[in-house]
Amino acid sequence: MSKYLEKQFPLVENGFDGHIHMHRWIDEETGEEFLHGLEGYRKECNLKYIALAPLPSGRHVPVFRDVSNNIICAFYKLLNENTFSYGGFIYPTYPATNENMAGMSLLEQYKELKEIGFDGIKMLEGKPNLYKMVNNPLDSEFFAPVFEKMEKDKTYILMHACDPHQFWVDVDEECKQKGWFYGDGTYPSDDEIYAQIDNVLRKYPKLNLCLAHFFFLSENPEKLSNMLDTYKNLTVDLTPGGEMYIGFDKRKDYFKDFFVKYDDRICFGTDMDFPARGESGIWLCDRVYRYLATNETLSSFDDHMLQGIQIPTSSLQKIFSQNLLNKLGGSPKPINKEALKRYIEKYKHLIIDKRLTKRIEDLSKEYL
Ligand SMILES: [Zn+2]
Repeated sequence: MSKYLEKQFPLVENGFDGHIHMHRWIDEETGEEFLHGLEGYRKECNLKYIALAPLPSGRHVPVFRDVSNNIICAFYKLLNENTFSYGGFIYPTYPATNENMAGMSLLEQYKELKEIGFDGIKMLEGKPNLYKMVNNPLDSEFFAPVFEKMEKDKTYILMHACDPHQFWVDVDEECKQKGWFYGDGTYPSDDEIYAQIDNVLRKYPKLNLCLAHFFFLSENPEKLSNMLDTYKNLTVDLTPGGEMYIGFDKRKDYFKDFFVKYDDRICFGTDMDFPARGESGIWLCDRVYRYLATNETLSSFDDHMLQGIQIPTSSLQKIFSQNLLNKLGGSPKPINKEALKRYIEKYKHLIIDKRLTKRIEDLSKEYL
């Protein structure tokens, strides 16, 4: 058993990590394929459910980001019964225009993803680097039809919008390599993205939107509190960003009250991914859980010590399980094999790694 798990963990029923990625289809070091690659993590952390958030668009560094990410998440969901998955939009070229997306408009893709049986939609389009590539404001006409439809359908959307403010000011070399420095004048400011999300919610007030990473507002929770009071379907997740927890720790009592008051609007997630190397995912799960569930002093992000706030078990149960289960309909939707086959045929020419194209064709023959 992991050294992080000396205590029974987590102390909730039907624990649910709602924000996990599958960056690769194969662990090149061990040869392990993705097929059941997160089950070890799920079981070790005593979680009943996980939800995958595909990243099928954006820079192809350090991994290829293309349609294959939706497809392998669909196969994972098919082969692992306690797995939910969101689907993500793809862009054949950047910047995205209605002309170059003929035959695969966002609305069309949305219908295809829903038909396959994805449980919701993941959007990374509000992260400044993908935002810059897609080059359409979130509150523009480009996104309007699909937001309108998703509001009507009550579809759960896990959206990454903005980033830590520091990314516009100065970041270390590792962040720069990932394309996470936005201070050179070619990216939208964080204020612009916040304003666009405000506009989207004003226009679609019932949108079933979850803003990932606490919407990067741990230094300005009053803004988030106003939004949660105004938009009753809005939620946030607790996926680190370590800076977020450092922000929480500056106002311990405030956040203890906040987490209890909004315990039906906050969802747990870790951002862990496949291949799961070492114990980093378990550590993330443990930190988030222990911060909320205990009053221990914890080593945490960036060598910062974090003081647990110990909220009641009833609040933990909602945050670590019930909220997401309610949002996603209680159990994973079944995969419609015919729809997945059609999707693969339509889009497989966009897969960059031809070994993976071949593997997906084989998996289709075997399982679809
Ligand atoms: Zn993520």
